[in-house]
Amino acid sequence: MSRDRARILALLRSGGRFVITSHVNPDGDSVASQCAVRLLVEHFGGRADIVNSHPVPRAYRFLPGTSRFGTRPPKTWKPYSAVIALDCGDARRASGLLEPRPPVPVVNVDHHATNPGYGDLNLVDPEACSTAEIVHGLAVSLGVRPEGGLAEALYTGILTDTGSFRHSNATPRAFRIASLLVGSGIDPSRVAQAVYESVTFETLQVLGETLADLRRTPDGRVAWIRLPFAVLRKLASPAESEEWAGYPRSLDTAVISVCFKESEPGLIRLSFRSKGAVDVAALAARWDGGGHRNAAGATARGTFEDVERAVIAAARRHLGRS
Ligand code: 5GP
Ligand code: MN
Repeated sequence: MSRDRARILALLRSGGRFVITSHVNPDGDSVASQCAVRLLVEHFGGRADIVNSHPVPRAYRFLPGTSRFGTRPPKTWKPYSAVIALDCGDARRASGLLEPRPPVPVVNVDHHATNPGYGDLNLVDPEACSTAEIVHGLAVSLGVRPEGGLAEALYTGILTDTGSFRHSNATPRAFRIASLLVGSGIDPSRVAQAVYESVTFETLQVLGETLADLRRTPDGRVAWIRLPFAVLRKLASPAESEEWAGYPRSLDTAVISVCFKESEPGLIRLSFRSKGAVDVAALAARWDGGGHRNAAGATARGTFEDVERAVIAAARRHLGRS
């Protein structure tokens, strides 16, 4: 692993040209770490083209360089030295860029415990709170002191992936790095306002509707919200609901929560959240998904009601064994 890390550092300082990508439905950490790695590449005179399967969610458009994120895969790989996948736990989730395998080396930088190490070079650290934390470590090793846009991006990745420093991954190291980044002069209230307090009126109304339909098992230990296609399409973009999986978990009795999102008819995104030792990555694995112990996801096919019934039954059984 450390040999791979040294090689990744050499690539970043090589002045070469790269494609940077991340998982489908990018979140705060994936957008932020992609911005940050591009800034590092540019620092050493290199170039990077960022390609994601979905546009940058509105909440993260304040980050540096997001207007230059693309959604079209490169026509040719000739100019590129490597493709760098960030925050992507599974090659199949890499916005279509890693399957079929591209003719350039694949660099895999991630913090998901379920990451199988699909890269030619792998830097996977499940102890890191976020991919941004790993990228911060790379910046330090490269002798780049994060400030300005780079510091703001790294802080945003740490802030969002720790759920504003509320999850179990809010480690002393996460706080220490956040402290250094804030100490460099960035404004944490500007970041918080951009990320959490820039919701449109229409989106809040749909959230209200969704929460009014909050469901729970008789013992209250499993709670869930439902976004069938007809509801999800009311949002300007499905990304507007990215943070909603946290709401059913906030129920006092809930130990496992699920957010069901029908992204197209018959295709249902599952976002699992849990409290304490309950491992929802293992639950997500039943639908070929993965993630972290307390936050994981997967995709299921079927009618909304069938998927809902099967997932809630599995969640209850999972608790029986936890
Ligand atoms: P979310 O529920 O916010 O989409 O995802 C929660 C966590 O699980 C994130 O770290 C995300 O990267 C991971 N995750 C979500 N869906 C999948 C999936 O289908 N496969 C894998 N391996 N990880 C996922
Ligand atoms: Mn992440």
